[in-house]
Amino acid sequence: MPGFELFGAEEKKEVNDVLETGIYMRYGFDGPRKGIWKAKELEQALCERFNVKFAQLTSSGTTALTTAMAALGLGAGDEIIMPTFTFVASFEAVLSVGATPVLVDVDDTLTLAPEAVKAAITPKTKAIMPVHMCGSMADLDALMAICKEHNLLLLEDACQSTGATYKGRALGSIGHAGTFSFDFVKTITCAEGGAIITNDEDVYTKCDAYSDHGHDHLGGADRGADGHPFLGYNFRISELHAAVGLAQIRKLDKFLAILRNNKEVLKNALSEVPDVTFRRIPDPEGDSCTHLTFFLPDLDTARAATKAIKTAGLPAFHWFDNNWHYFRKWDHLKAVSTLTPYAAPLAEALAKYKTKEFPASDAVIGRCISFPISLAWTDEELRDRAAKLAAAVKSVL
Ligand SMILES: *Cc1c(COP(=O)(O)O)cnc(C)c1O
Repeated sequence: MPGFELFGAEEKKEVNDVLETGIYMRYGFDGPRKGIWKAKELEQALCERFNVKFAQLTSSGTTALTTAMAALGLGAGDEIIMPTFTFVASFEAVLSVGATPVLVDVDDTLTLAPEAVKAAITPKTKAIMPVHMCGSMADLDALMAICKEHNLLLLEDACQSTGATYKGRALGSIGHAGTFSFDFVKTITCAEGGAIITNDEDVYTKCDAYSDHGHDHLGGADRGADGHPFLGYNFRISELHAAVGLAQIRKLDKFLAILRNNKEVLKNALSEVPDVTFRRIPDPEGDSCTHLTFFLPDLDTARAATKAIKTAGLPAFHWFDNNWHYFRKWDHLKAVSTLTPYAAPLAEALAKYKTKEFPASDAVIGRCISFPISLAWTDEELRDRAAKLAAAVKSVL
């Protein structure tokens, strides 16, 4: 899965450029930085690689989501439809702008079920946020059609799927805005970092200012001369982090080729096991192949298979029992447990999750296992893992 597995001379060189000037901040210091602008360079590289007009780097994928939501005008009283299966950052960002997360079922794509989305729309709904989990994508044609019909915004959380595509277009570039995470375990990494991509200049201009205390960046070399059209926060990335990401994005195609090859070998091995089925991928060619995700016949066999895979010394994510990614374990969200109180309407809207059940999601996530795919395996290690994975799963069926 993660780009950190292939750190090398390229990352060192980019970081060294910054160390040599001693200018670690992405704005200002025009003279001493001697023409080194790693964050700007990485934003340009993101635009080129993902074929979008604008990219804004941030300090993390979480702050990229928060910034995108602010730039799209999402806030108090607005409902954002999102899946029951995602990383907690997705709803953290919704809550951080004061909006209301409306959780809906996932289907065998492991992300938003279009029918469940339709059923959840109310007059307060402002946006739909699919989360392209584990390297692959939501059914974007269906979701875009719903957005069009109901005049809603589409914000793609593509934090786990940098480099994946849908019908030839980069995930993240299809909705009104999309976000990536470059945290340490993502497909490409800055160590910590994130980005928003968009083709909407107004959204971009707002992201640019919001992520830097509202600075409009029109004051030239003098930051003190910038205007502040609205409030913002410090969600800036540093030059050091951007430098790491610059080396990584240049290797993205190499990473994708390795991941796709490895996934094919693993999938072929597991296809031999009767009763195993695979995640539905709306555009298989666009899968970034960070994971091989498959289904067992029921919850019990999935639990047993997870145990068998781990006993064989391999990793396996059975999301149903995992603390981070599935609704069932989001106790802090269900308990509305926060350090600072939410506005009363938001707290009331969240209270229903204390007892709410998602049987349709349970039926998918309970049976599902994701096997993370490494960039660093040798051919022999890959073949060994494929054989062990298939044998472990077979042993419980
Ligand atoms: C990693 C991740 C994020 C947040 O990214 P950070 O850079 O860790 O803040 C958001 N959404 C999803 C789906 C993620 O996996």
